Amino acid sequence: MLIACESCDLLHRGLPLGRGERAACSRCGERLYGSDADSLERTLAFTIGALVLLILSNTLSFMTVSLEGQVQHNRILSGVIDLAQAGFVPLAGLILLTTVIAPFFEIMLHIWALVPTLLGLKVPGMVFAARASSRLATWSMLEVYLLAVIVAAVKLAMMAQVSLDPGAYAFFGLIGLLTAARGALETEALWTRIEALQ
Ligand SMILES: [Zn+2]
Repeated sequence: MLIACESCDLLHRGLPLGRGERAACSRCGERLYGSDADSLERTLAFTIGALVLLILSNTLSFMTVSLEGQVQHNRILSGVIDLAQAGFVPLAGLILLTTVIAPFFEIMLHIWALVPTLLGLKVPGMVFAARASSRLATWSMLEVYLLAVIVAAVKLAMMAQVSLDPGAYAFFGLIGLLTAARGALETEALWTRIEALQ
């Protein structure tokens, strides 16, 4: 089995490791695999937490804007609908894809690949799910949305009273947990376990 270093692409021949041992790249020192025995369990825990926060950030109010006695609670989806109604349909679609749809499918595919792997079960589509979840990560761009929200909040604060609501804090947590899930996932360990199920 040949393993490419993720940092410098140097190829290494994989050797079986004992518990707690790790293999590092001989050229740049990047960790190749091993020494992270519970990486899949931690990834699953972060992913389930991210799913809860994704649901909360989309159902709770995100931002409240008060201007001359008028108070408006805004959610991510109401913002998308407002944009579409104002004629910015492609932009609304792009926001929906990158902040709601792509993260949702990334999370569901992670769960679909990880739960059966950890239970030692072989279910249809898990190989596809393991492969597709990393592809979808490219399309989930929560950080860009966050940046846009900060800019809009600062601009709005000059003329109205703006406050961030629980939905926004759920969204901040979602970014953290999704990043933690991606960081904790050891693809080598996942594929070795999936291969053993075949
Ligand atoms: Zn390397």
